[in-house]
Amino acid sequence: MPIRPENRSRYPANWAAISLHIRTVRAAGRCECLGECGRGTHAGRCPNVNGDPAYGTGSKVVLTVAHLDHTPENCDPANLRAMCQGCHLHYDRDHHRQTAARSRRAAVEAAGQLTFEGGTQST
Ligand SMILES: [Zn+2]
Ligand SMILES: [Zn+2]
Repeated sequence: MPIRPENRSRYPANWAAISLHIRTVRAAGRCECLGECGRGTHAGRCPNVNGDPAYGTGSKVVLTVAHLDHTPENCDPANLRAMCQGCHLHYDRDHHRQTAARSRRAAVEAAGQLTFEGGTQST
């Protein structure tokens, strides 16, 4: 998954090396997802291998590195998981939904605040 510009500064300077090590050495090019993605389409470890056709879709697998706690600063190997794009996207989806819900709620609260503050206007 591409690093979003607003998050780039949160990654350590040697992130590229860490990511490469996880994908090529620890994972040996294979998706390390054991079902964390919640897709429910693979039992046990995901069979997708970097550069090979992905199961189900046949599109080329691009191995990425996911942060299990969604915190880019936390590059403890235990927090990192090499994941194919399918698992990674699915894994992040719930998180994105929560984040979106949080910012929506904040926006509603801010709007409520504005309404409250501006509520004395007479019409
Ligand atoms: Zn996978
Ligand atoms: Zn998976």
